[in-house]
Amino acid sequence: MASPPFNAVSAQHNCNWPGCTKRVSIKLWGCMPHWSQLPQELRDRIYRCWNGGKGQNTDRYRAVLHESQHVARALQEKAGP
Ligand SMILES: [Zn+2]
Repeated sequence: MASPPFNAVSAQHNCNWPGCTKRVSIKLWGCMPHWSQLPQELRDRIYRCWNGGKGQNTDRYRAVLHESQHVARALQEKAGP
């Protein structure tokens, strides 16, 4: 039996929010409650770099992903445990 392509709709990864283990579609950055906490400007940039999955291996995407994880961590610390 052939395995489905990696970018199949069912492909999942962990939410990019630090410490969140929720599984989300590969098309999304993370789970909805966490995604919605990121600043709009950053979400726009992630979305543009991701480019429907085509940008996932580019340096630009990796840079913005890294930045988003810093922002997430800062938001997390502000909110407390
Ligand atoms: Zn999450």
